[in-house]
Amino acid sequence: MTDTNTRSINDIETDIVKINEALFTISELRSSLRSFKQLVQQENKGPTYVNAFGERLNLVKNGVNRLTSEAEGLKGALVYAQVASKHNYDWPTIKDAVENDAAAEERRQAENGAGRSKDPSAHIKKTSDHMLRQLSSVVLERRKPTTTANFITTNIDQWLAHEKPSNVNMSITFDSPEHDTMSGSACCVTIAVEKALRAVLSLNYHKASDTLVVHRYEMKSANEEKNSQQDLLLFQKLNVLADSAFQDMGVMPARESLSSILHWIASYYNLFTEPCFRCNRRLQFDSPHYKFLPPMVRTWVRRKVDYMEPDREMPQAYTTAGMAYHMLCFVGATKVAAKINQ
Ligand SMILES: [Zn+2]
Repeated sequence: MTDTNTRSINDIETDIVKINEALFTISELRSSLRSFKQLVQQENKGPTYVNAFGERLNLVKNGVNRLTSEAEGLKGALVYAQVASKHNYDWPTIKDAVENDAAAEERRQAENGAGRSKDPSAHIKKTSDHMLRQLSSVVLERRKPTTTANFITTNIDQWLAHEKPSNVNMSITFDSPEHDTMSGSACCVTIAVEKALRAVLSLNYHKASDTLVVHRYEMKSANEEKNSQQDLLLFQKLNVLADSAFQDMGVMPARESLSSILHWIASYYNLFTEPCFRCNRRLQFDSPHYKFLPPMVRTWVRRKVDYMEPDREMPQAYTTAGMAYHMLCFVGATKVAAKINQ
């Protein structure tokens, strides 16, 4: 608990960066929600409605997932803020300012969408019956038995047979078998990598856009009975990293995306043994909250890196999959956006 009382200026600066990112995620989430709401409210549901519905719903889900993991990384900062606030902050003024902002945003939205309900959730509730009727009629008209139902299963089988690294002992089991959805298919799998971890993933295959979305995931210890406090922290952090990884792989075509996800999870087989590629050590002090962590980054091959100058060579950490890094060493090696290092 003493951690919260001794935050350095550096920690506080990092906190502010994280808070800014979380606020940015909230505003993205808000705009995804707005766009979803607009779609639901549309009077004419065109032939692409079902696909658009799935796509925008996924954006909302991704936003919520991202926010959840960002909130996890903010816990330390928030506890500190609470302790500090007893001495320094004028909460009534801060609260007023936030409420004023919210009221201004409400007014702005009301002006933009004159005549619409101010509360999106109330409106969604009100129109949900109508929407469901629309959807079921669309589904009945358009749904014929599809051939997508086995896309994920088939590709997992093929990956296990032909692509799985032979030195890795792992198994993939279906917690819920692959089934048709309105836009493709979905399933839930548990991937167990011996002596390292288990990953539980809910996968959605979207046929029209040929994409695969990991819409829920949890990376956890291979043996939960033997979990120490330090293991819990380690997996907490790994889940934050997984968020960035899955988003990055999600832009690839579905088959490639699935293969990258499986390769990435398999590359954790040496989570507790491999030294860091950069500093060649095992444990590194990460932060007062997480304390000492092993190299937990395993690189995945990136398609493009927006924030690199075009004529610079790609660092090895981007072009070679499965390299082990400490979080801080990875950031140092790649100058990757600070948001991975939470
Ligand atoms: Zn290192």
